[in-house]
Amino acid sequence: MHAVTNSDALSTPFDNEFGVDVAIIGAGVAGMYAAYCCSLMGIGCAVVDELAVPGGQCMALYPEKTVYGVPGYVGVKAKDYVLKLSEQCLTTIRHKFFGYRVEKINKTSENKFGIEARSISACNDGDNDIRISAQYIILATGIGEMKPNIPVTIKGVSEIPKSSDFVQFYCLNHALYRGKNVVIAGGGDSAVDFTIDIAPIAKHVTIVHRRENFTCEPHKIVKIQELVNAGKIKLEMNQNILELREFAGKRYVYTDKKEYTPDHIVFCYGFIANPGSIVKDLGIETEKNLIKVNLDNMETSVKNCYAVGDAVTYANKKKNIIPCFFESDRAVRAIKTKISGG
Ligand SMILES: Cc1cc2nc3c(=O)[nH]c(=O)nc-3n(C[C@H](O)[C@H](O)[C@H](O)COP(=O)(O)OP(=O)(O)OC[C@H]3O[C@@H](n4cnc5c(N)ncnc54)[C@H](O)[C@@H]3O)c2cc1C
Repeated sequence: MHAVTNSDALSTPFDNEFGVDVAIIGAGVAGMYAAYCCSLMGIGCAVVDELAVPGGQCMALYPEKTVYGVPGYVGVKAKDYVLKLSEQCLTTIRHKFFGYRVEKINKTSENKFGIEARSISACNDGDNDIRISAQYIILATGIGEMKPNIPVTIKGVSEIPKSSDFVQFYCLNHALYRGKNVVIAGGGDSAVDFTIDIAPIAKHVTIVHRRENFTCEPHKIVKIQELVNAGKIKLEMNQNILELREFAGKRYVYTDKKEYTPDHIVFCYGFIANPGSIVKDLGIETEKNLIKVNLDNMETSVKNCYAVGDAVTYANKKKNIIPCFFESDRAVRAIKTKISGG
């Protein structure tokens, strides 16, 4: 185990180790921006993420998808956006650790947080787990392990061989769909975004949605209608997917109304939030697996522990990139006020 030290920070001993003002857990959009806010406000911080690269969901689930709704871009590939954001936010951060999972956070006798992170990446050599002491923590842990939400009522999913590329939960590699027949399941923003991205290269795309209407942002409907008119996509609304089957080299999707034989089906039903054991261990109040925060300052029910991004819930919270910025700014400003004795 090696200690993280930061001479600019409130360096107080913790088990013969030193600490930082703020430890940020998670380097998705929210965590990266929190680090940026810390550097703007002259606060020493450390950032830890279990993934090998920054970007969270954007990189792990949809690096090639066009991202909408971020200022400065009409639309931008997620991986390009993350690159710009990490240049802006992480370049000046000394203590950044990728491939480290935070497994334990204790309250120390000095009322600080003792954070233990285990190296889980092959690129981190051997016994170099890290231990950080911090006066404040910001949980930017997103949706945790990013487990796709697949209704248990759909039969046959578990029987499809692991080696098969029939069932997809996100679009890591758009080239997979080139010249293929694709069913996209869902009617929210991600289903519509993927359709708009993939339609030009796929042979044909069919959206199967259980409702009559889409629940995506209205501006995207215009594009969807254009693709329908061009014969590139077909909309199959008011249908529930009941079963998937793959045998004798053929792939079948059965709904309560029809049968489809695509090359791939992409489920866009969202992800199941899981805040992980650290939230439980600290005794933080949650609601439906999301961290409850005070919107005035993004503080959780545990003093000096803040949370931002997709991990949190409050009235009218939207799981989008934009709120991540606002929430991170707000949390760091609240911390700055405390540090300055306000
Ligand atoms: C398919 C899809 C398409 C989307 N498209 C758009 C869009 O076009 N526009 C838009 O505005 N929003 C979009 N979103 C939503 C947007 O991606 C999220 O709102 C945003 O990425 C949330 O960022 P975050 O930093 O809160 O969480 P995350 O991106 O989930 O990052 C959390 C990070 O915390 C890390 N972590 C968690 N637990 C630990 C631990 N114990 N130790 C170490 N690290 C840990 C994870 O590895 C992860 O990197 C989309 C979402 C999906 C799923």
